[in-house]
Amino acid sequence: MKKVCVLPGDGIGPEVIECAVKVLNAASDQLEFVQADIGQAEYRKSGTHLSRDTLDLMKSCDSSLFGAVTTSSSPDYESPVLRFRKELNLYVNLRPVKTLVHLPQRPPLDVVIVRENSEGMYTQQEQYDDKGVTTLRRVTREASDRIVRYAIDYARKNGRRKVTCVHKANVLRASDGLFLSIFRELMSSEGSGLEASEQLVDSAAMKLVTDPAEFDVIVTLNLYGDILSDVAAGVAGGLGFAPSGNLGPKYSVFEPAHGSAPDIAGKGIANPTAAILAAALMLRHIGLPKEGQAVERAVSEFYSSGHLTSDLGGRHGSVSFTEHVLKNLGR
Ligand code: ATP
Repeated sequence: MKKVCVLPGDGIGPEVIECAVKVLNAASDQLEFVQADIGQAEYRKSGTHLSRDTLDLMKSCDSSLFGAVTTSSSPDYESPVLRFRKELNLYVNLRPVKTLVHLPQRPPLDVVIVRENSEGMYTQQEQYDDKGVTTLRRVTREASDRIVRYAIDYARKNGRRKVTCVHKANVLRASDGLFLSIFRELMSSEGSGLEASEQLVDSAAMKLVTDPAEFDVIVTLNLYGDILSDVAAGVAGGLGFAPSGNLGPKYSVFEPAHGSAPDIAGKGIANPTAAILAAALMLRHIGLPKEGQAVERAVSEFYSSGHLTSDLGGRHGSVSFTEHVLKNLGR
């Protein structure tokens, strides 16, 4: 049996995670679930958005499935997402985005964004002085090396043909320059058989919208990966379409790339596609690849048979979408 820690969180998190757990239960009888609070519910209970007990529980499981948390405006707020990424050493953020439904004016895309998940602009070190604020942006050899190696390895294992390094080394010559030079070195020593390409982040953002077929696997720094994966999600239909996996040498946490979307919480209209595809990524990661593939197929069948979710103007909310996916799974 594989043990999964379920962390529904805030806003639409619990709604989409409930759908994903139903699908997981239907896809495999090899799973057992433990549930824990994260975000506002945990804060009300213990005064922290992510407790030490929950981190220990996550460590004791084969993987975790997380919904979303609402960012608090309080000055002492510490993001539980950044905390679990750091404490569990989840240095890869894997964000595959694929067109499931063909929309007018949006070219089809199938891109995997491998985002550096441990440093860059996310050091959370910001200092005020009398003129303003200085933010520390850190790029190390070690973190750049391991993320580029991961991207190359991912491309190879998943039959991908091309890896594109997205950067801004024309301006950030030292930091992005280091990332780019490590990419060049590793692609020439480890990337045989794969096409290497390079793209400035601004033009990559445009091309993701106008000519996404240009991209296959993208490897990039933390903030660029965060932004570009939302751009890719937008091209594919919206934030409800982008799953994500936080991966490290020992632990993993899977989540939809979207946030808690308080504007639509409680209305039954959140699209659970991203959460269910994140669950499928988790199945693949914990050694249940056939089950993961079956879930992906069941989701894809929903769209290919002409149905639409309410975020795309269709009539299917979270519950009816999930019922269709369960039916496609043969349950
Ligand atoms: P947070 O503060 O938690 O990041 P947010 O609302 O600012 O929340 P997102 O949750 O990422 O940011 O979403 C932005 C908008 O995209 C939402 O307001 C919502 O309208 C839409 N959205 C996000 N996720 C979904 C989804 N799963 N289904 C439908 N619409 C979604």
